[in-house]
This record gives sequence, C-alpha cells and structure tokens, in this order.
Amino acid sequence: MASPKVAVVGAGVIGLSTALCITETCPSCSVAVLSDQFSPNTTSDVAAGMLIPHIYPDTPIRRQKQWFQETFTYLFAICNSAEASEAGIHLVSGWQIFKSPPKEELPFWSDIVLGFRPMSKAELQKFPQHRFGQAFTTLKCDCPSYLLWLEKRLKATGTQMHTRKVADLWELHREYDIVVNCTGMGAHQLVGDKQLFPVRGQVLKVRAPWVTQFIRDGDGLTYIYPGIHRVTLGGTREKGSWSLSPDAGTTRDIFDRCCSLEPSLQGAQDIEVRVGLRPSRQCVRVQREVLSQGRIKLPVVHNYGHGAGGFSVHRGTAKEAAHLVEECISALQGSSSRPKL
Ligand code: FAD
Repeated sequence: MASPKVAVVGAGVIGLSTALCITETCPSCSVAVLSDQFSPNTTSDVAAGMLIPHIYPDTPIRRQKQWFQETFTYLFAICNSAEASEAGIHLVSGWQIFKSPPKEELPFWSDIVLGFRPMSKAELQKFPQHRFGQAFTTLKCDCPSYLLWLEKRLKATGTQMHTRKVADLWELHREYDIVVNCTGMGAHQLVGDKQLFPVRGQVLKVRAPWVTQFIRDGDGLTYIYPGIHRVTLGGTREKGSWSLSPDAGTTRDIFDRCCSLEPSLQGAQDIEVRVGLRPSRQCVRVQREVLSQGRIKLPVVHNYGHGAGGFSVHRGTAKEAAHLVEECISALQGSSSRPKL
C-alpha cells in the first residue's frame, strides 16, 4: 500500500493533534480531517487550556504521567520558540490552595510542572480561608489560537480539511483505509459509547489584565486562569447535563466565588459566558478496533473521552493513537502482501 488514506474525524484539540502526529509518524499517509465543526465552535475552544492534569480513575497513573510529560515537553518547546505567540502558548505561575490538607502531598505531576513547592506563609496570607497551598509554574494554551496553529501546520503538510458530519464510520470505508475517531462527546452517538457522559462546564472569560497569577481552589471547582487576552473564571462540573445554554444564576455564583479569592476581580470588564460539555469517561479510550461487515474490514483507532484534561494530555494520547495507526498500516500491508490461495 503506497499511500494509505487516513480519515481523522473531529477537529478539536484531540483530532487536530492526532492528525498532526500521524503526518509526523507516517509521512507516506494521505491524511484528511473531517468534522462537522471547526474552531471556534468546538468544546476545545471553550476550555481554559491549563496544563494541570485531571485524573482518569481507570487509566494507570504511569500512563497518564507519560501523556502529561509528553504534552508538557512538546508545548514547552513551542513556548521557547518564535512560534509561541502565534500558537498561543505561555507560562503562568500561581497557587493551588486548600482548606484542609490534600489527599496526596505531592501530585503525580509535581515533578513535571516547574518549581513545584509548598506555599510560603506570606503567600498563604492572601487566602485567609485556606490553610495549605502549592505554588508552581505551568503552561497554558490560548485555545482558539492553538487550534488555528494546529490547522495551519496540518494544511502545510497537505492535510485536507472537510466540513462533514459522519453519521456512521462505515460511510468512510470506500474512501479511506483507516478511520481515526476523535469526536469527543460525539462518540456517544457515533459509536454508541454508553460509558461516555457529559460533564457540563460554564466559565466566564473576562478582561482583567492586572491578574497575572493563577489561583485554583484544590477541589478544582473555583479557578482564575489568566491568559494572553482574557482571564478565565470557573467553574462548574455538572455530570450528566447536556445543556449548552448559559445559566445566569451560575454566572453570578462563579463571579462571587472568584471574587472571594481575588477581590480585585470586581473591576473585571467584558464578561463573556461560555459553556462546554467535557467528554468524560473513567478512562480515555485510545484503542485499536477492526470493524467487520461480513468479509469487509474497517480498521479504526479511537482517541476520545479526555474529560476535564484534554489539553493537559493531548500530545501524549495523539502520539499513542498515531502508533496505533502505524500498526493498522502494517497489518493492512501484511494482509495485502499475503499470497491469495
Ligand atoms: P471537541 O473539542 O469537542 O472536538 C470534537 C470534534 O469532533 C469537534 O470538531 C466536533 O465537531 C467533531 N465531531 C463530533 N461528532 C462528529 C461527527 N459525528 N461527525 C463529524 N465530526 C464530529 N482541559 C484541560 O486540559 N485544561 C483546562 O484548563 C480545561 N478547561 C476546560 C474548561 C471547560 C469549561 C471545559 C468544558 C473543558 C475544559 N477542558 C480543559 C477539557 C477540554 O476542553 C477537553 O478535554 C477537550 O477539549 C476535548 O477535546 P476533543 O477534541 O476530544 O473534543
């Protein structure tokens, strides 16, 4: 097979980064991204884009750590390059604060972020309701800029982008040799994954350029994440809710919670409310599968279900998915070179 044709379905951070890894790992492939929505209309556009991992209970920590490490290393290199501002990648320092001691003194990612240390007494004085805290520097993506940067890189490799809703993966089998499913929450319907559920998140994007340090309550519910242009104030975690409509009461609640951590936010301007559904599962599904209809086979690689941590691990899971695509190609080459009896 000279030039295997690969369709990546989905154009959020997972689809675009997976397509890019496939072009890097299998340069002989012809890759197309098919998606019903592109930036700025994906869940990935709503995210804060902070690199702080979310824990997937059924994925071994060693694997999650590797995904985070690979993502951090990749984005840190971009951050230290002339591409940083176009890609929307920057470093941000701040505090994660707790009212009671955290379960683990050292989270598994403490040696990957930069300068992880307990907060000093002087720092803790800023938060009279909190008794413990961790200070560190991590990376943050300006999500729409990063998605556009990924699209630009893909187009430079000759990857085609098509606006198309895929109702059934089988509709692609005549045109493509391998299908990669990066549809996020769309996988609930597309492949009938009942283990996938939405966790609704409402955030406010505000203008408050004097806020330069991130503040995250240790329970992960209230956070202030300064970005290049706007500060993201969060948030909510509403398991099982499919509503994409902003809720006015929730907006007030988020604003009040954030102001109680950073009173100067009372002066924030241009408040924009965004809602997204985190595509959640007990474990991310990075998996190879061969679909069959009689004697016809369709190799599929799944990469979805990143919940609250898609930006934090995207490059790691994209690399793993690209290796699974390589395995599919080897299997296809093996079957096409086998003598027919
Ligand atoms: P999506 O961005 O939803 O992309 C899915 C793509 O598939 C879309 O392009 C869609 O149009 C397409 N699609 C779906 N079905 C079909 C179909 N049938 N046919 C064709 N195309 C289809 N993560 C972090 O790491 N850090 C954070 O700070 C962070 N903050 C967040 C804040 C909020 C409020 C929310 C909601 C999420 C946050 N996340 C964060 C999580 C992160 O946004 C997700 O994990 C990530 O965006 C998932 O990316 P995805 O590409 O799988 O999904």
